[in-house]
Order: sequence, then structure tokens, then C-alpha cells
Amino acid sequence: MRAQPIASHFIAGSYVESPGGKGFDSLYPVTGEVIAKMHAAAGSTIDKTVAAARAAQKEWAALSGAERGRVLRRAAEIIRERNRELSELETLDTGKPLQETLVADAASGADCLEYFGGIAADIHGEFTDLGGSFAYTKREPLGVCVGIGAWNYPIQIACWKSAPALACGNAMIFKPSETTPLTALKLAEIYKEAGLPDGVFNVVQGFGDVGAKLVAHPGVAKVSVTGSVPTGARVMAAAAEGLKHVTLELGGKSPLIVFEDAEIENAISGAMLGNFYSSGQICSNGTRVFVQKDIKQKFLDRLRERTSKIRLGDPMDEETHLGPLVSKPQFEKVLGYIGKGREEGARVIIGGDAATVPSFKEGWFVAPTVFADVTDNMTIAREEIFGPVMCVLDFDTEEEVVARANATEFGLAAGVFTKDIQRGHRVVAALEAGTCWINAYNLTPIEMPFGGVKKSGIGRENARAAIEHYTQLKSVYVEMGDVESPY
Ligand code: NDP
Repeated sequence: MRAQPIASHFIAGSYVESPGGKGFDSLYPVTGEVIAKMHAAAGSTIDKTVAAARAAQKEWAALSGAERGRVLRRAAEIIRERNRELSELETLDTGKPLQETLVADAASGADCLEYFGGIAADIHGEFTDLGGSFAYTKREPLGVCVGIGAWNYPIQIACWKSAPALACGNAMIFKPSETTPLTALKLAEIYKEAGLPDGVFNVVQGFGDVGAKLVAHPGVAKVSVTGSVPTGARVMAAAAEGLKHVTLELGGKSPLIVFEDAEIENAISGAMLGNFYSSGQICSNGTRVFVQKDIKQKFLDRLRERTSKIRLGDPMDEETHLGPLVSKPQFEKVLGYIGKGREEGARVIIGGDAATVPSFKEGWFVAPTVFADVTDNMTIAREEIFGPVMCVLDFDTEEEVVARANATEFGLAAGVFTKDIQRGHRVVAALEAGTCWINAYNLTPIEMPFGGVKKSGIGRENARAAIEHYTQLKSVYVEMGDVESPY
């Protein structure tokens, strides 16, 4: 099984190899086979990429927003035309079921390009009437932006970062996670086919110091990273040296609160989507499921029954619900957390181990796992697991659950299931989270800003909010009379 790209990088409109860079392999998570052999970008390749992006950015920014928007919308159309090919490649690289990648990965990327393609012509400043004079602001691009991706949503992250950046007239250098290097290259091909000038969107691969070199490069104006909290902190510290703009989309340990009046099947659907989709490798997952005591047993019984029906297996089979984890280290990390949960006294009601799929004995499969009797101080209730592991906690009162939900350093997302509309709004108002759902979970339409508070991040992706993060204001004062002067 091979998915070898033409070369490791896509720079200034062409595939480029960087033979001086360290080699690394991309593996198929189902079998552990090597699907592509890649090279990290050498320092000289990074310098050339930044120079190409700086030159191209000026040309791109000189176009009107309407012209830039047309390119983005054409690229969205091409993504939709090539959705199956992109989805199969994403499944190969991540192990996520095709059932998901066909609807949630490249498709969400296309939504994003369409959205920012649509509003590119409407990115503008404001006018202020000052009497005998006036002022206006212009929203100007920042320059060359670096996007750094995680392995859980490779093409979607590349689109969520590049579409607003490009709509605003910036250029982007995107570095995928070395675990999933492939689909960002396809996005670069698609942008070129859609008419994007060479050098406006570039992909460089790497691990270890490549991301750090990009962040530190003096030709870079902004960095947007999706990843873990320690990485976000390192990026922010490095960016501070050059006073660069940052957007950080980091980890979470989000609460999903189910009140006794909730429509229970919907609440269970939300909890399952928010813990098992993508094998649980989603930053906004509602991994602390708080269930009000009166309905706890009923909730657990139905949850176990529905979880037992999850079809785990070959991710290329469209009937499969759950594939393997992305990598061996992630697989071992998740099993370590499951062990810790047991040791600290949580009760496994289903799953709780690696899973065997007869035809793929080497795959990094973990059975969908539900822990009951979880308490706030347990490791599994405090740390991001990033696997198909749900922790169910119980509670008595609204006041108590809000305080416990907020007792975390994270603040990415939160969900509330209740039929009481006033309670729903009251509780989300009290929750410390950047993105909240009432009677739903993990839906992230492009029209809604996405991002976290506290240690879950800084800035917002998607919606008009992203425009603020990829532009800077220029204020212009215009005098209509004589200049008043005491001299
Ligand atoms: P990391 O945070 O380590 O990496 C994310 C990206 O940042 C990768 O492309 C990585 O490159 C890059 N990077 C790492 N260090 C630096 C640096 N100093 N400067 C610039 N770029 C850097 O995530 P992992 O992929 O290793 O996953 C580890 C954990 O992070 C997971 O177990 C999970 O808990 C969490 N995570 C959270 C995600 C989210 O959406 N919030 C997504 C994925 C993971 P490289 O890997 O090539 O070194």
C-alpha cells in the first residue's frame, strides 16, 4: 500500500525534495506499513520558502478581495470534485474511518474555502465622521503566516488556517504533523489548479525543529498552531521574541453535562459523538460526562448497549464506525490512561483494552471504553487522553456541576443537555469555555467561531472572527479644512 507523493514539499508552485533533510516515514495505522517516505525541510529549504512566500504575498495582496475570493471558491469546488480521493488518502494517513472522512474532513475544508471565498470581497475597515475631518481604517494583511497542524484533522486544519489567511491577502507556509504529511500537499496542488499564484500557499514537512525554525524566522509575521498545550506555550514564547501574532488551538478536557430532564437518547448520541468519533482524537471532545444522579443508571445502561453496537474494523470499509488510533505512541498512551483509570478506582462498564481486528493484528485499535464512578481528582478526569475513552461522573445540583466543570486549566468547549431552555442558557453563561453547545455536541459549522479560553488557546478560527486574526488595522485621518497650528 503506497501513497508516496511526488516529493515531500510543495514550494512556490512546485513539488520539491529536500535531500539534506532528515528522513521519516508515514505509516498506515491499520497495519503499520510504510505508505510514504518523506524528508524534513533543511534550513536552506525553509529560507527559500519564506523568501518565495514573501514575494508572492505582495502580488496576492494587490488583487481585490473579489479576485482572491474567486480562487478560494474554485478551490472549494475542486475539493468537492476530488472528495473521495482526498478522503481515502486521509483515511490511509490517519486510520479514521472512510465513513467519517467522506463527510467531515475535506468536506469541512471545502465549506471553509467557500465561506472565506464568499466574504473575501467584504473585508473592510470602518469610517468615522469627525466633523471637519474624518477617519477610516483599512484591514491589511499581516504578511507571511505559518500554519502548524496536528495529526487528527490534517486537511481540515490546513483549510481552516489557510482559507482566512489567504482571503485577507496573506501568504501561508503550512507544516503538517509528521504523522500525517500527505493531504496538505494535495491541498497545495488544488490551490494551484484553482489559480492561486505560486508561492502563496506552500507546504513544508518536518518534525522536531522544523516548526520551531519557521516560528523563529524573521520573515514570518504570524503563527497559527493546532496541537498540545506544551507546544502552544513553546510557540508563543518563541513568537514573543519577534513580537509575532499567534493563534493557538490547543487541548481540552471539556465537560458535557446531562440534566435529569434531558432527552436521554440525544444526550447519549452527543456523548458518543463527543468521545468516539475519530477514535476520540478530537480536542473539543466532551470527555468528562457529568450525569445528574436521578438518571445515571438509565444513562449508563443505554450507553453500554449503544456502545456495544459500534462497528470497529477496517477504516476503508464504509460500514466501519471506529478505526485504529493514529500511531503506536498514541495507542500506548491511551492504554496507559485506561490502566491508570482502573488503578485509581474507576469502573470499566465496556471496553477497557486494545481491540483485535482479526485481519489486522498489527493495527493500533482500542475498544470504545466507558468508565463509570469517575471522580474529579482521577488522572483520567484531569488529563487529555485523546482516545475513545469516556469518563462518566455524577452530580446533584446545577451549582455543583458548574463549579466542577470549571475546575480545570482547560476551557476549549462544553455541552449541556436539558429541556429547560432557561437553564441551558444560564449554565453555558457560567461555563468557562470558548465554544458551547446546547442539546448538541461537537458541531463546528464554519459560520461559528471556534477556539478556547484558559490553557485551551488564544484567538478564534472560522467565521468573521478569523479575519481579525489574519489582518491588522491601519488608521487614516483625513483633514477637510486647514491645519490648525499655533505656529
Ligand atoms: P504536538 O502539540 O506535539 O504537535 C502539534 C504540531 O506542532 C506538530 O506539527 C508539531 O510538529 C508541531 N510542533 C511541535 N513542537 C513545536 C515547536 N516548538 N514549534 C513549532 N511547532 C512545533 O502534538 P502531537 O501531534 O505530538 O500530539 C501530542 C498530544 O497533543 C496528543 O496526545 C493530544 O493530547 C494533543 N493534541 C491536541 C490536538 C488538538 O486539536 N488540540 C491535536 C493533536 C494532538 P512535529 O510533530 O512534526 O514535531
